[in-house]
Amino acid sequence: MSSLDLALDNVRLPDGSSGSIGISGGRIASLGKGQAGEARQRHDLGGALVLPGLVDGHNHLDTTFFGDVWRPHQRCVAGFNVGERLGIQKDWLSRGAPLAERAGALVERAVSRGTTHMRTHVEIDTDFGLTHLEGILAVRERYRDVVSIQIVGLGRGLLVRPGTRELLDAALSQGADVVGGLDPAIFEGNVEAHLDVVFGLAERHGKSIDLHLHEGGHLGLHTLGRIAERTRASGMQGRVVASHAYALGEVPLDAMLPTAEKLAKAGVAIMTNAPGDHPFPPVLALREAGVTVFAGNDDIRDSWWPYGDGDMLERAMMVGYRSGFYTDDELLCAFDLATAAPAKVLGLADYGVRVGASADMIVLDADHAQMAVVARPVRREVYKAGRVVARDGVFLGVQGKA
Ligand SMILES: [Zn+2]
Repeated sequence: MSSLDLALDNVRLPDGSSGSIGISGGRIASLGKGQAGEARQRHDLGGALVLPGLVDGHNHLDTTFFGDVWRPHQRCVAGFNVGERLGIQKDWLSRGAPLAERAGALVERAVSRGTTHMRTHVEIDTDFGLTHLEGILAVRERYRDVVSIQIVGLGRGLLVRPGTRELLDAALSQGADVVGGLDPAIFEGNVEAHLDVVFGLAERHGKSIDLHLHEGGHLGLHTLGRIAERTRASGMQGRVVASHAYALGEVPLDAMLPTAEKLAKAGVAIMTNAPGDHPFPPVLALREAGVTVFAGNDDIRDSWWPYGDGDMLERAMMVGYRSGFYTDDELLCAFDLATAAPAKVLGLADYGVRVGASADMIVLDADHAQMAVVARPVRREVYKAGRVVARDGVFLGVQGKA
């Protein structure tokens, strides 16, 4: 039997047991009690906890100002308004550092905090054309050995901005993995026509769907119901996401549950980042109804929000904190929102700390995952495909071979 590339001994495994992990060819080759087999390299982790790599299910690398100069937040003149926010974003981006610098700085910070996979939404509209997609494709290639990046083509104004639909169509041919849309009612003014475009493009390109949905109250519930029905009608169960879906948190639970049942039956997943002081989807009630709920950082240090550095353990803590999670089961749910749940939505078949999976892992000082959520300890090491890509919070890049 050939020797392992790397043996990690004296490890605390995610289930709390002590043991070892053997890595070969970038994958977990053995897992269990005692020492791993013969290996070219071996490390004693001193009882540190090993958890699966963190998955950021929703962010915006192309519009972040992470690593750029500080810009004071600008509020909308009369309350939150998507159109006005997009105008502010366009102004900021016209004066920002190059996309490659901003996005690269955020990728490196996120990896240093343990993110091994992410889904990023890229602006596609008649202002930016495909320039943001081209920039993020280059960033994805540059960091391909340290993080896996899935790209959503976020069509801003598929109906109301002529030419955007064609740009999104082109984006899906040129590297975007997922069809993205925005607020079918309040931004586009026509729910059915917007969903016609989104589901049509998804069918034509064989892609999944991830829609931004800020629509509130019963209007938002109506849109969610239509998304669920369209998902079932087109046989796309398990391949559609509604991101934010504030409406689910803006109405009483009794009024929310019928929509939750529709979402569960259609396999439509919900992404939340527990934003600011805004109502957000009730995580446990949705999961009890059978809906897949997962988390993402969404906007980080950009024209929409000043907060964040890409740390998904911090995001898990925030969602748990705002959800009133206290018990171990609830804290494990918060951890799941930043790991297994988004991995399922992103279709990561080789995810997890298990034999055969890609060796994408974080090593930290904690007794178990629930403690990791509340304490958010510095990640001692971050592994991508069996190689150390960050240590003690410092990004090492592809030089940090194990
Ligand atoms: Zn977003």
